[in-house]
Order: sequence, then C-alpha cells, then structure tokens
Amino acid sequence: MARQCILCGEPANHEFRSGTRWYSCDRCGTFSTAVGVERADMQTNLGNRLHLLSGVARRASEHGNPLCITGLNLLELVETSPLPSTPLEQMDLALGAIEGMQLRPDQWVDLDVDRNYPLVFGRDGGELAYLLEALVKRGLLEDEGGLIPPAELAPVTYRLTPEGWQRLDQLRRTQTDSDQAFVAMSFDESVREAWDASIRPALVATGYRPIRMDQVEHNEKIDDRIIAEIRRCGLVVADFTEHKHGVYFEAGFALGLGIPVIWTCRSGDEKKAHFDTRQYNHILWNDVDELKQRLIDRIQATIPGRSARGGGSVL
Ligand SMILES: [Zn+2]
Repeated sequence: MARQCILCGEPANHEFRSGTRWYSCDRCGTFSTAVGVERADMQTNLGNRLHLLSGVARRASEHGNPLCITGLNLLELVETSPLPSTPLEQMDLALGAIEGMQLRPDQWVDLDVDRNYPLVFGRDGGELAYLLEALVKRGLLEDEGGLIPPAELAPVTYRLTPEGWQRLDQLRRTQTDSDQAFVAMSFDESVREAWDASIRPALVATGYRPIRMDQVEHNEKIDDRIIAEIRRCGLVVADFTEHKHGVYFEAGFALGLGIPVIWTCRSGDEKKAHFDTRQYNHILWNDVDELKQRLIDRIQATIPGRSARGGGSVL
C-alpha cells in the first residue's frame, strides 16, 4: 500500500508489523517508525536537515541494518552519523555510488538521480545531477548522452575514468596510511594497565602514534575534537571493558568512515554489552601481556605492511 514517505514525502510502500510501521521507499530505503511518529514531527524536529535523515536511513538500509525511528532518536540519528560536510565529500560519495554499480570498468551505468540523491545526502535529484556533472568536468567521471534522439530525453549514463578510480584509491589509502591510532576505552583505574602495558605499546610497536581522549571520561561529551581526531586516524582500537557509551559511539563513527576498528574486551565483560557487537570478532583478553601480543598480531593481520618494530619492544 502506498503512503507518503515520512522522510522524503514521496509515495512509498508501507505496512504494519508487530506494532511498527515499515516503509519501503525508493529513495530512503527500508526503515521502520514507532507508532504515532508522523512527518510533521520530522519537520518540526529536523526542519531543513530532514533530508540528512533520508540519507542516514538509506545508508543503514543498504548496509542491511534498517533504522528504527522513534520520536526520541531522530535528532540523535542525524547528529551522531558521519555526514559529508562539503560538496567535495558529496562528490566522493557519488563517485563511490557509481563504482558500486559498475560490474566491470567499461560499463555505463544509469544512476537515477531522483531515486538516489539520499546516497550523497542531497536534497533532491537536481543536487545529485549537479554533483555528477561536476565530477564529469573534473575528469573523474565520463558521461554518455542518449544515443537515441532526441538526446536530451534519453537517460545519461556514467562510468568512472581512470582518474576516478585513482581518486577512490587515494581516498582509501589516505585513511589507512595515517600513523595515528585512536584508542576508545574506559579511563577507570581498573583498565589503566591495559593501556599502559598492552594497547599503547602494541600500537607503538606497529608504528602507530596512539591517541586517547581523556576528557571523555569527565563529561561523556562527544566533541568536535574527538570527531576530528578519529577522521585523521588510520586505525581505531576499541576496548569495551566496562562498556562506556563513548566507546560504542567512537567505534561506530570510525566504521562509518571505513576506518578499520579492532575490537577488544576483558574476558567476562563481553556479557554486559549494551549493544550486540558479537558479529565483530573481539579479542577477549585475560591479562595484559596476552592482550599486547594478540593486538600486535591482529594489527598485522588487519593492516598490510605493519610489521612489529624491534621484536615488539616499546619506547
Ligand atoms: Zn522516502
């Protein structure tokens, strides 16, 4: 049954299942809303940022984790998601979307802008069309107008140029080439030894500069500095011992940016998890020496070219 999509306002299929309304929208993907949440609530709470929630919903849907939107979490969903902050970052997303559709390098693909603008967190098809045109002008995409006259009515198809492939390659390299590693963990005394004797030395031994943001401990506030530091990192180590909320956020944020995350937790503590992160292979540790060696092994297995320096000895 078609109904106005609560996010983009266009017609979308919907159905009730066990107390929630499930939408299936060509633009925003599959997501559910709590009973009583209406489009007017979205507009009141998010105003001119509502299109960003369409983008967050679409991305979650493509990753196979459909959002459940309630009256309480809609602001949080927008404010805690990694979003493009400049048109250039939107262009990178558009380039990635074309790459995702191309099954072979010489294939032309038709990215229907009116259905796919949430992939770049755009407001409408016009915004995505503009970004695609800008990518063509910069030589990262090539386009092919319709071969059937009149050309202006035929769909425009795109494919990446070698420069486009290079741009995506560079983007991935810049991130994993960074020597900075962000450590998300509890700052309680009880896990201090894990930092001093395991996590820090394991990162130094594999050529990383470990960064830990102690102020999170005091106010549990995720500030712009933390976001900026994570963006600069080539690796995040997230230790879930004591299950601090900040650790979940920081690990999720890094995942969203495509930064590799290594998950660790003191053995026994994993049962108290706030969220189910079991699909990620955690290093469950009993003592700090064991954690150090296993972390070095995992880093070397995860990031190519990270050999332990000086047999694991540390500064
Ligand atoms: Zn929609």
